[in-house]
Amino acid sequence: MSGAVSAPKKGLIITIDGPSGAGKSTLCRQLAARLGYVALDTGAMYRAVAVAAARRGLDGEDCAVLEKLCAAIRIDFRREADREQVLLDGEDVSAAIRTPEMSLLSSRVSRCSGVRRALVRRQQEIGAAGGVVLEGRDTGTVVFPRAEVKFFLDAGVVERGRRRYRELFAKGIEVDLQQTIAEMEARDRADQEREDSPLSAAADAVRIDSTALAVDEVLDRMLEIIRRHPGFTPAAAKSPGDT
Ligand code: C5P
Repeated sequence: MSGAVSAPKKGLIITIDGPSGAGKSTLCRQLAARLGYVALDTGAMYRAVAVAAARRGLDGEDCAVLEKLCAAIRIDFRREADREQVLLDGEDVSAAIRTPEMSLLSSRVSRCSGVRRALVRRQQEIGAAGGVVLEGRDTGTVVFPRAEVKFFLDAGVVERGRRRYRELFAKGIEVDLQQTIAEMEARDRADQEREDSPLSAAADAVRIDSTALAVDEVLDRMLEIIRRHPGFTPAAAKSPGDT
C-alpha cells in the first residue's frame, strides 16, 4: 500500500472519531460534500482487510499473518456515479465490507499493531495534502494528532443500535435489533480496551452528542466551528482516489 503525496496543503484536516453508529460516516460524507473536501472512511479500510483475510481463510487473531496480508493488498477509494466505492485490489467491495460478520472481523483485525501501522500510513498519505475529513476511532489522536479541527461524536447505545439496524435493514440484511445492540456494545468495548490506539476523544476535540439531534443539526454545528477556523479555505469536491 504505497503512493506518496507531496502536494501543497489545500485545506484543513478535520477528524471525526467516536463509537459505531454515532453518525460519523454520514456526517463525514456530508461535511466533505459541503466543503468540497475529500471524505475518508478509515473504518472501511479495516473492513477491507477483514474481507481480504476472510477470503483467504486467515486467522483473524494472527497478527503476523495479517501484517503480511496488509503488505500484499491494495486498498483504494473511487467515486463512481456520486457513490464512494472501496476497492480491494481493484475490486469494488463496498457491499461485502458492510455485513455483520465483517463488522466483527474488522474489530478483531484492528487490534493488530502491524495492521494499524499499515493503514495509518495509507491514511496519512491520503490526508497529507489537507482538504480532508477523516472518520474513525483514532483519526484525531493517532492519524492526525495535529489536525486543525477535531470532533468526537457520540450517542446513546440504544439509539446507535437502532440506526445500525435501520441501515442494515435498508440494505436487505435482516438482523435482530437486540443482537445488533449487543454486538455494537461488544465492539465498542473492544475498541476502547485495546492496547494500540484505543478509542478515546482527543483532549482538543469538540464533543457532540447526536442522540437527540437530526443529522442537519449536527452538520450545522460542525460547519459553524470549521468556518470559524482561521485556516479554513473551501476546495473543489474530490474523492480520496484523486490524491
Ligand atoms: O467504523 P466502522 O464500524 O466501519 O469500523 C470497523 C472497525 O474498524 C471498528 O469496529 C474498529 O474496530 C475498527 N476501526 C479502528 N480504527 C479506525 C476505524 C475503524 O480500529 N480508525
